[in-house]
Amino acid sequence: MSLFPTTIAGSLPKPGWLAEENRLWPAWKLRGEALAAGKLDATVAAIRLQERSGIDVVTDGEQARQHFVHGFLECVDGIDFARKVAMGIRNNRYTAMVPTVSGPLALRARVHAAEARRARAATDRKIKFTLPGPMTIIDTVADAYYGDRTAMAFAFAKLLNEEARALAADGIDVIQFDEPAFNVYTDEVGDWGIEALHTAIEGLTCTTAVHICYGYGIQANTDWKASLGGEWRQYEAIFPALAGSRLDQVSVECRSSKVPVSLLGLLAGKDLQVGAIDVASDTVETADDVVRVVERVLEVVPKERLVLSTNCGMAPMRAEIAAAKLAALGAGAALARERFA
Ligand code: ZN
Repeated sequence: MSLFPTTIAGSLPKPGWLAEENRLWPAWKLRGEALAAGKLDATVAAIRLQERSGIDVVTDGEQARQHFVHGFLECVDGIDFARKVAMGIRNNRYTAMVPTVSGPLALRARVHAAEARRARAATDRKIKFTLPGPMTIIDTVADAYYGDRTAMAFAFAKLLNEEARALAADGIDVIQFDEPAFNVYTDEVGDWGIEALHTAIEGLTCTTAVHICYGYGIQANTDWKASLGGEWRQYEAIFPALAGSRLDQVSVECRSSKVPVSLLGLLAGKDLQVGAIDVASDTVETADDVVRVVERVLEVVPKERLVLSTNCGMAPMRAEIAAAKLAALGAGAALARERFA
């Protein structure tokens, strides 16, 4: 692949005919077979949009799941969705109504087979598929069975591995685990977070990635970021452990981020998915904005190791803004190839 291949963190806005717009937990507008068919149509549309925008490694846009964690949990036995409790998540940054683990966990069926296969049939480009990471999952469910956070995390990691292997067999090229919980529970990343990811990627021969981030552009996250001071150094505690991991790529936000670029040097040996598009702002980047991010990162990371991406998922954004930002990413990557070839 050429220099600076492009991808996106994962999600894209859903069309208004499929689900409520501009919501992180949107309600579906279709039911039954119409919903199943609609999810697949939206998946193909998301791929076409990425192709038109110059995105090299496309995703399903997460069109078939209501939320990036609960989309997975819906296919897991041992979770009682009727037993929802209010739980402070991400170290009490915000409160969510979460379901309860009430018995041994097992996959009831394939989680993402339909959209993965439709995506594979729809494009010749490489496809990246996202799954929630074990630490993020256990931070989004209540436990009334395992009595031990770590044991529950590894139980989920085994299920993730089952689905990840099946996705690879479906022809998926990159499997990415989303772990926004990693920069909240930094001590636990080295203690067991990486090992849980290793369980999740066991036996995979496709490319593997982990996305860590400071969250979508929702108010609770924006407020939290404002409280973190002039420099965000949370990654300093976890990058050395990630550098020593068996994952191939790390996805990090870099646009409008206060993470000192020097910290990226701690990820030596890893390919970097560089977030060059801010998803917490509706201001559309220019190609030059993208090039400026690349220029800064190149101070510490060799160009062969860079993949250009978005900071985080775009699910809650307005569709026309997300589309314009994707176009900027594609154009920015093209410009960066000219500039830094
Ligand atoms: Zn993210």
